[in-house]
Amino acid sequence: MKIAVFPGSFDPITLGHYDIIKRGVSLFDKVIVAIGVNAEKKYMFTLEERLQFIKESFKDEPKVEVTTYQGLTIDLCKKVGAKFILRGLRNPADFEFEKAIAHTNRRLSKIETVFLLTAANTSYISSSIVRDVLRNGGDYTILVPDAVRVK
Ligand code: ADP
Repeated sequence: MKIAVFPGSFDPITLGHYDIIKRGVSLFDKVIVAIGVNAEKKYMFTLEERLQFIKESFKDEPKVEVTTYQGLTIDLCKKVGAKFILRGLRNPADFEFEKAIAHTNRRLSKIETVFLLTAANTSYISSSIVRDVLRNGGDYTILVPDAVRVK
């Protein structure tokens, strides 16, 4: 079974993430969306909220699982039997950053990173832009799946 881990902060999940996961589903038997927990990072949404947003977004997609993890992504991959890491590429800055991580992961393991170019209509979206729009009272709903709603 071809399993891919899609790691990230998902603070919150955006339509860009959603697009990559949907397309990942057509390439792999299972896509495990993995929310990394970094004790040094400050998040806008709690881990539970971030988890719920993703679960709700993919409640009708049995090939998508959601989990949280601490530590190295490759260790999570080994634990869940995933041979692939899925990542999205938006721009050259993403590429430079991802290249170093993918090379490192290959040195440390046999796990391959598979990159998908983002869809043109969501390539400008980032979680940090969503958080900025939210903080300033703008209409964030056009940037995120329906499951992400802030009361
Ligand atoms: P991280 O904290 O690891 O950057 P993110 O949640 O921001 O976590 O991103 C996780 C993954 O989703 C990364 O591979 C990133 O490139 C990808 N991604 C982020 N935004 C988009 C987008 N708008 N379109 C496609 N992929 C995206």
